[in-house]
Amino acid sequence: MAASIAENLELVRHRIAAAAARAGRRADEVELVAVSKTFPAEAVREAAGCGQAIFGESRVQEAAAKIPELPGRLAWHFIGHLQKNKIRKILPLCSTFHSVDSLDLARQIDRIADELGLFPTVYLEVNVAGDAAKFGFSPEGLRCDLEAILSLGRLQTAGLMTIPPFTEDPEDAREHFAALREFRDELAERTGTPLTGLSMGMSHDFEVAIEEGATSVRVGSAIFGRRRAAKPAG
Ligand SMILES: *Cc1c(COP(=O)(O)O)cnc(C)c1O
Repeated sequence: MAASIAENLELVRHRIAAAAARAGRRADEVELVAVSKTFPAEAVREAAGCGQAIFGESRVQEAAAKIPELPGRLAWHFIGHLQKNKIRKILPLCSTFHSVDSLDLARQIDRIADELGLFPTVYLEVNVAGDAAKFGFSPEGLRCDLEAILSLGRLQTAGLMTIPPFTEDPEDAREHFAALREFRDELAERTGTPLTGLSMGMSHDFEVAIEEGATSVRVGSAIFGRRRAAKPAG
């Protein structure tokens, strides 16, 4: 029996607060991005009615159809891999981009943001696990490109983001979350830029991510239910 979005949100908020408390952190240090991809505007409205204000989308076409249907007071984060030819379409709709994964992409976002008069917040995606199937900077790549990214006048670089390889046991993700935090500490030291944001943790592993320092968790199915398109039936 599926619980309602309201019940799910309540439970996720409790779990965030409990994980933060275990790590000696305050619950309000962790931002919840409710990932509404594949779910209709109606589901977003229901969550917004429970006080949820930040939503995440990962496909440009879907986001461009959904966002204008919803109240302007909501904040939208783009969490998916962004193709360069779609920047112009999505930039006016989203305040924050979680998956900037190359210097070239960062430069193009900066250039179009300048044309449009915007100052988007970005996270730099790092492939800390060295997973060949994933997007993201390698740590060596980001060490090399970070100064150039930080010099882009329109981008507000919040910090780093990662997606660890999926495994059944969320504890397996801990080393990757810790590695992202340690890498952030190294980069902050080298550049003198705090890079305070750590976007890490999804439905399956957000509590472990918070224990390891996440400041933004991207949670979809634990709030909205299982995505029909996400897995083959059965
Ligand atoms: C879909 C998605 C999420 C949310 O996934 P859930 O497992 O449903 O919480 C988070 N981050 C990214 C980048 C995603 O694409």
